[in-house]
Amino acid sequence: GIRRRQMVVGNWKMNGSKQENTHLLAEVMHSWVPLTQVDVAICPPFVYLPQVADTLQGSGIVWGGQSINPNATGAFTGEVSARMLSDFDAAYVIVGHNERRRLRGESDQYVAEQFLAAQREGLIPILCVGESEEAREAGHALDAITAQLSVVIEKAGIGAFANAVVAYEPIWAVGTGKSATPQEAEQVHKHIRQLFGDLGSQLTLLYGGSVKVHNAAELFALEDIDGALLGGASLDAKEFLAICRCAE
Ligand code: PEP
Repeated sequence: GIRRRQMVVGNWKMNGSKQENTHLLAEVMHSWVPLTQVDVAICPPFVYLPQVADTLQGSGIVWGGQSINPNATGAFTGEVSARMLSDFDAAYVIVGHNERRRLRGESDQYVAEQFLAAQREGLIPILCVGESEEAREAGHALDAITAQLSVVIEKAGIGAFANAVVAYEPIWAVGTGKSATPQEAEQVHKHIRQLFGDLGSQLTLLYGGSVKVHNAAELFALEDIDGALLGGASLDAKEFLAICRCAE
């Protein structure tokens, strides 16, 4: 993207072990050269947050969660709050990832509550939106994305997006090896910026969905794409670092 800070976020999803993480993080740290234009974050499973935090402390790479419960504390067995992530100095939290929308039935309303809860605790929410394959084929991709974003905009207010990141992740492109084409991604990103009016040009807007080192550069060269949310590519240190460098 043009004239905005760039960002690369690694979403480890439900992968890793203490030993695998030690190796992956060591390889990342070994070859890490601080970037001046790019914010880099890693979002591990909750249980590995202390390990990631201890290892990345002071490195310039920050960390975050993959989801949160919007409540502050209480009888929510198995859940983790924004405050708990802050307690481990997390900077970001992903909300509305399509895997949680589908696997956990998280609605736009619930995602909006997560977004607000994150900001209340000083975390920057990374709000994921994206259309299904059926919606795209029916020509409804932009409508689907508008509907998802509108619920959060209504609840949080447009101004809240000055402290948020939006990630456009077409569902059919996540984990499939089939990325959106640069033209498809750019069209949606332009549309999203328009939804935000005056704030649109300042919004940090990532693309996610099968970004690899071979397609990162052409995506990042587009005017309205400010970096990427990575799944698979964040589990390989060389690939992850190469994509971070592409964003610089
Ligand atoms: C993701 O999980 O947000 C993602 C973009 O996954 P992948 O890069 O593997 O498609």
